[in-house]
Amino acid sequence: MQKIKMVDLEGQHEKIGREIEEAIKKVIDSTAFIKGPEVYAFQDNLASYLDVKHVIGCANGTDALQVALMSLDLNPGEEVITTPFTFVSTAETICLLGLKPVFADVDPNTFNICPEKIEKAITPKTRAVMPVHLYGQCCDMEKIMDIADKNGLIVIEDAAQALGAHYTNSNGFKSKAGVIGDIGCTSFFPTKNLGCYGDGGALFTNNSKLAEKITMLANHGMKAKYYQETVGINSRLDTIQAAILNIKLKHLDSYNLRRREAAEFYDNEFKNNKKIITPQRYEQSDHIFHQYTLKTGGADRDEMKRYLESENIPSMIYYPVPVHLQKAYKKLGFTEGDFPVAEQLSKTVISLPMHTELNQEQLSYITTKVNEYLN
Ligand SMILES: *Cc1c(COP(=O)(O)O)cnc(C)c1O
Repeated sequence: MQKIKMVDLEGQHEKIGREIEEAIKKVIDSTAFIKGPEVYAFQDNLASYLDVKHVIGCANGTDALQVALMSLDLNPGEEVITTPFTFVSTAETICLLGLKPVFADVDPNTFNICPEKIEKAITPKTRAVMPVHLYGQCCDMEKIMDIADKNGLIVIEDAAQALGAHYTNSNGFKSKAGVIGDIGCTSFFPTKNLGCYGDGGALFTNNSKLAEKITMLANHGMKAKYYQETVGINSRLDTIQAAILNIKLKHLDSYNLRRREAAEFYDNEFKNNKKIITPQRYEQSDHIFHQYTLKTGGADRDEMKRYLESENIPSMIYYPVPVHLQKAYKKLGFTEGDFPVAEQLSKTVISLPMHTELNQEQLSYITTKVNEYLN
């Protein structure tokens, strides 16, 4: 059996390698490394894929979140509500801009921010909400948008793990993750469902005024070259990365399908195991399984990880420490017990190998070993 990897970028590259290498060579030959035609083509292609008016490329997913926040012209000390159970980027960018992150705990079954908890966290200083569609499944966006509308809040979606997932409103209206709120952000970090060959990111919006501002902010605050309208940053999507993304975007739906098929196999093999809680899916969102994350019912999670390792099965903990308890955010004054669901999850979740190249033999081996251990 081929060695099992957490993510198999090598196997994925093998299948599209020649096309990718040709595209890279074309950029090198043109020397249009910054803002080359492939960047604009990719922005257009992604905009039609997502069915959104504007896509603006940037250097990475964290910058996308930062630029999104910058475009709102918030004042220092104003509050932004986000989840404590995620990668650090949302809280990090809020803090970097002198704003105050306010956490709302997550739902124990979907791992996503809880709308009711958002509502409770609103104060007169709240300006925005940053929901994160964790592991590939959308947050309860209908409720979140309702709360935002009622309270005059801007919604910035972190869709870094959910690019290509659909969300269906109760009236049947369907849209893709990242284009439901005012601004959506994503990352093209190599291991994401749509990954490039280095760092990359993008913002999406249907609001033309915001799009113009975002474009300017990500390019030194310039509208015309060498005339700065506002203090911006330098965050652009490289032409080489855009050329690669143009090729990989065509495969995104089939990549997401491969992940979903692997997840369905896992679900099925674990369904009779009482010690495993498989990831809950819910009707309004499809799940594109950036991660396949289990909860261990009672078993020692860290011991299980070591056992899997000894059987040559990699696994990962996303995330071992919730953001509010990270050393870097100590000065915000949170303590253990403030967000009990996030804290409990950080002790019990474990993510199994999930990528587009998992074969039947590998999947069967993984599920057999997990079931042997947790029986
Ligand atoms: C990957 C990721 C980011 C950050 O993206 P980078 O491109 O690495 O900056 C932000 N939020 C979430 C949820 C992510 O998974």
